[in-house]
Amino acid sequence: TDPALIRNFCIIAHIDHGKSTLADRMLQLTGIVEERQMRAQYLDRMDIERERGITIKSQAVRMPWSPTSEDGTATPHILNMIDTPGHVDFTYEVSRSLAACEGCILLVDAAQGIEAQTLANLYLAMENDLTIIPVLNKIDLPAAQPDKFAAELAHLIGCEPEDVLRVSAKTGEGVGELLDEVVRLVPAPVGVKDAPARAMIFDSVYDAYRGVVTYVKVVDGELGRRERIRMMSTNAAHELLEIGTNSPEMTAADGLGVGEVGYLITGVKDVRQSKVGDTITQFHKGATEALPGYKDPKPMVFSGLYPLDGSDYPELRDALDKLQLNDAALVYEPETSAALGFGFRVGFLGLLHLEVIRERLEREFGLDLIATAPNVVYRVVMEDRTEHTVTNPSEFPTGKVDEVHEPVVRATLLAPSEFIGAIMELCQTRRGNLQGMDYLSEDRVELRYTLPLAEIVFDFFDALKSKTRGYASLDYEPTGEQSADLVKVDILLHGDKVDAFSAIVHKDKAYAYGVRMAGKLRELIPRQQFEVPIQAAVGSRIIARETVRAIRKDVLAKCYGGDISRKRKLLEKQKEGKKRMKVVGRVEVPQEAFIAALSSD
Ligand code: GDP
Ligand code: MG
Repeated sequence: TDPALIRNFCIIAHIDHGKSTLADRMLQLTGIVEERQMRAQYLDRMDIERERGITIKSQAVRMPWSPTSEDGTATPHILNMIDTPGHVDFTYEVSRSLAACEGCILLVDAAQGIEAQTLANLYLAMENDLTIIPVLNKIDLPAAQPDKFAAELAHLIGCEPEDVLRVSAKTGEGVGELLDEVVRLVPAPVGVKDAPARAMIFDSVYDAYRGVVTYVKVVDGELGRRERIRMMSTNAAHELLEIGTNSPEMTAADGLGVGEVGYLITGVKDVRQSKVGDTITQFHKGATEALPGYKDPKPMVFSGLYPLDGSDYPELRDALDKLQLNDAALVYEPETSAALGFGFRVGFLGLLHLEVIRERLEREFGLDLIATAPNVVYRVVMEDRTEHTVTNPSEFPTGKVDEVHEPVVRATLLAPSEFIGAIMELCQTRRGNLQGMDYLSEDRVELRYTLPLAEIVFDFFDALKSKTRGYASLDYEPTGEQSADLVKVDILLHGDKVDAFSAIVHKDKAYAYGVRMAGKLRELIPRQQFEVPIQAAVGSRIIARETVRAIRKDVLAKCYGGDISRKRKLLEKQKEGKKRMKVVGRVEVPQEAFIAALSSD
C-alpha cells in the first residue's frame, strides 16, 4: 500500500468514556465486522476485560475507508486503529501504542467532561507529536452538555470549539464524519521505502495456538513472508513463519511496507524474546541503527501470593510462568513465610494489575490464594553506605539504617471546585505536596500533587471518591523517590514475629497501624491453652499490646465418659481442624484468621 493512503491512529480517553464502543462502531461502519457477528467491545478479548469493561492489552486493527471528498470521488484508504488501555497502571502500554501512530482521537464523554486520564493521555500524545482530534462522545445522552465541554476541550488543546467533533458511539451518529476527519487531518506515515527494513515492536501477545504474536509498525523498508529477521537488541535471528494484518482477525499477507501496521509470527514461545520497544530488521543487510525504544516497565507494587492449600504450590508456579509469557511486566520469585508457607513475591505495575493477575490465577487456573497487603519498593541505605532494595517488609534490614527512600508519584486530580478543600485535606493526611492548581473552567479544577506511592496504593482512590461523591478523578505517574521517616512495624504473637504482617510505614502512622493490627488479631485468634500476648513493635520497642486470654478447651469433657467411638471421632475431627492451623512459635492460628487479618476492612 502507498503510505500516502495509510492513516495510523489511536483513541485515548478516560475509562468509560466510550473508546471500546466507538471502536466497535468503526469496525461495523468500515464493514470488517458484520452486523450479526458484532458483539459489544469486540476488541476486548480477555474475559476479565469484558466483565470489568476495561481494555488491558492493546490491539491493532486494519480497516478500509474511502472518505467522500468534496468533488464526490472516493479514494480507498487504510486506517490502522490501535486500541489503548485506559487505566493508569497500563500507561506504559498507552505510550508505546502512541508511538506507532501519527494521530489520535481524544474522546471525552459529553456528560462528564475532561477527566484525569484524559489529561494524562493527552500529555502523552503531545509528547509523541501526534495530531489530536478532539471528540465529544455520548451526545445522545439527555445529560450531555456538548457546548460546555466543547469549550473546555478547545481551551485545553488550543483549538476552536467548532473544531470539536460530536458523536454518539452508541447510535453511530457522527462516526462516519469522524473517520473522514481522520483521513483529512492525521498525517500519512513517512519512511524510506528503499532502506533496510526497520519495524518497531509495539506489542507482543502470547496466543495458546499461535505462540507469540508480535505487533509491529514498519517504519522503513519492507518485511516479506518467510524472511529471516533479526531482533536488534539481542541480535537473535528468527524465521518469519507468517506476516499479516488484523481485520479484525489475523489475515496472512505477502509482506508489510512503509507505514503499515500488522503482526508477525516467528515461533518464539515467550513474549520476552520479542520485546516491546525492540526494532526488527532483515538478517542479511539489515539496518545498523535501531529505532528509539521504550523504557522497560518497572514493577511498582509487590505482594506475596500463597496457595491456600500448600500442595497447590507447583500449580501456582506453572500459572505464573504462563501468565508471564504474555506479560513482560509481571515479575516474581519464590518466598517462604512462617505464617503462610511457600509462595511467591510478585511485582506489579499497580493495584489494578495486581487485581487482574490475582483474578486470572483464581479463575483461569482454579487456584485459591492468599495475598499479603501490597507494598511498594524501598531503597534502604545503611550507615556503612551499603544499600538494600526491599520488596518484602519482613526483609527490612536490621542494623544501623541511615536513610529509607520510597517511590513518589506525580498525581493529577480533577474535580468540581467545591471539593478543593476535601481533596487538599485528604492529600495532606497522605503526606502529599501541592505542586500547582489550575481552573479548567469556572467550576472545574486541576490539582497537581506529589505523593508517596505507598500512600495511594491502598485505598486512596476509594477515599477520594467518597470525599467527592464520585466526582473526582485521579491519574498518576512515578517520578522518582524521596527519603522519608519510615519504620518497620512487626506484629508478634507470644513473642514471635508474624512475617506476613510486617509493614513499612511512616513514623507518625506506626502507632495507628500497630493498634489496628493487634486489635484485629485479638478478635481472630482463638483462645489457646495459655495466654497469648499480641504485640506491635518498632525494633525492640513495643508500641501496642492486646491479649488473648487462656482457656482449657477439653473436647472430651462433654462426653461424660460413655461412648468410646464417639470420643475417637471427636479426636479425629480435632486433628482434621489442626491441619488447617498454622503454627507461629507456640501459637496455633487458623489460616482463616490470617486471611481475615490480611483482607482490608
Ligand atoms: P471505555 O472504557 O472508554 O472503553 O468505554 P466503553 O466503550 O466500555 O463504554 C462505557 C459505557 O458507556 C458503556 O456502558 C457503553 O455502552 C456506554 N457508551 C459508550 N458510548 C456511548 C454513547 O455514545 N452513548 C451512550 N448513551 N452510551 C455510550
Ligand atoms: Mg474499553
